[in-house]
Amino acid sequence: MLRIAIDGPGGAGKSSVAKAIAARLGIIYVDTGALYRTIGLYMLNHGIDPTSAPDVVSKLNDFTLELKFQDGKQVILLDGVDVGDTIRAPEVSMAASGVSAIKEVRDYLLNMQRDIAAHNDVIMDGRDIGTVILPRAEVKIFLTASAEARAMRRYNELIAKGRDVKYEDVYREMVERDKNDSTRDIAPCVQAKDAVLIDNSNLNFEQTVDAIISVIKKKTKKQKPFYMWMHMIIAFPIRIFNRIKVYGAENIPAEGGYIVCANHIAAKDVFLIGASCPRQICFLAKAELFSVPVVRTFLKLMGAVKLDRTGGDVAAIRKSIELLNEGRLVAIFPQGHRNPGVNPQDTVIKSGTGLIAYRSGADILPVFLQAKNNKYRLFRRINVIFGKPIKNSDLGITSGRHGEYEAATRKIFGEIIALGGYEFNDAEGKEN
Ligand code: C5P
Repeated sequence: MLRIAIDGPGGAGKSSVAKAIAARLGIIYVDTGALYRTIGLYMLNHGIDPTSAPDVVSKLNDFTLELKFQDGKQVILLDGVDVGDTIRAPEVSMAASGVSAIKEVRDYLLNMQRDIAAHNDVIMDGRDIGTVILPRAEVKIFLTASAEARAMRRYNELIAKGRDVKYEDVYREMVERDKNDSTRDIAPCVQAKDAVLIDNSNLNFEQTVDAIISVIKKKTKKQKPFYMWMHMIIAFPIRIFNRIKVYGAENIPAEGGYIVCANHIAAKDVFLIGASCPRQICFLAKAELFSVPVVRTFLKLMGAVKLDRTGGDVAAIRKSIELLNEGRLVAIFPQGHRNPGVNPQDTVIKSGTGLIAYRSGADILPVFLQAKNNKYRLFRRINVIFGKPIKNSDLGITSGRHGEYEAATRKIFGEIIALGGYEFNDAEGKEN
């Protein structure tokens, strides 16, 4: 999935530049400002002050707003009617700026914007795309220019459309809108920490497009992640040293998000599974480990998810779902804790796996770690057995009730244990 976020003040040329880039890359261009403009237009048409939060909020359920793409071009339907260019009038710009400072309006539009990016490669422009809407966008650009340059462009644009405007008025409105947008409490227009700043005061259109394309190329250049470098170096020694025998490697899907579920014997399980799987796996790691500076850096480089048990794991669950939606493998131990020497059948199963499965919709890749007496001993063989993926739709979660999560996790765990049919004896019957 490719998500390109372009934020910046009005008049920096975001929309025309983004349109050109979308055409070059063959992806969808989403103009989020148009959504705020449409709500602003509705308020103006109904005599509502766009800056009055209570009045605007009371009207939010009175209309329907749809965002569609026809031949790759964005169309906004307000109560079923295409708003077209009516949202481009200067008074609508100010109304958009007014309604956009209202939390309920932003909440109203949040999922609509995220939903498009979840299903399409997009270039999306706005004010808070890199900071709020798509914080994990692959490319973030903050495109700006001096207020004078931006006002002059907007002025020329409006004159070309036959509007009777004065440069001074366009400039004044531009500065006022900048101030509103960048100083508001919610989702102000600011550069995301990881965004690349491009000031195009002295660049023409083509130069701006080229500058952004070169950032996109640089950011999306496929790099072998640190995890895979580590894997190349240490997977083989781990497998030899631990006498790992891998079964069912053909069951590991070549791509797509899967929840890798295994029984948990000891801390080194993560190394055993990681070394046995050719794809990168994101493991959940205890928050305490992240408080040790060197370990924290290592875990971050390895793509680990921070698991804060005191916080009810909400952040970890959300992050796991995000990673799964991105097509990654995320490992979870349904038992929650290590259980050395205990028969897996006799251990307590938590419900978190079912919950993440339900929320992410991801299928499960079951893994059984088989060690004699469920204990790791130096130089004694370990089987790492990958089962066939379990379909999410077979987990029986329909309403997302807590009991269902637990039942689903039990079902998954049952299938994990059922994988343990491999013998520890060699051909002569001698114990390995
Ligand atoms: O980008 P455009 O000028 O069409 O946006 C109109 C107004 O909508 C902006 O001035 C801003 O107040 C608001 N907006 C926003 N967040 C976005 C896009 C636009 O607050 N992501």
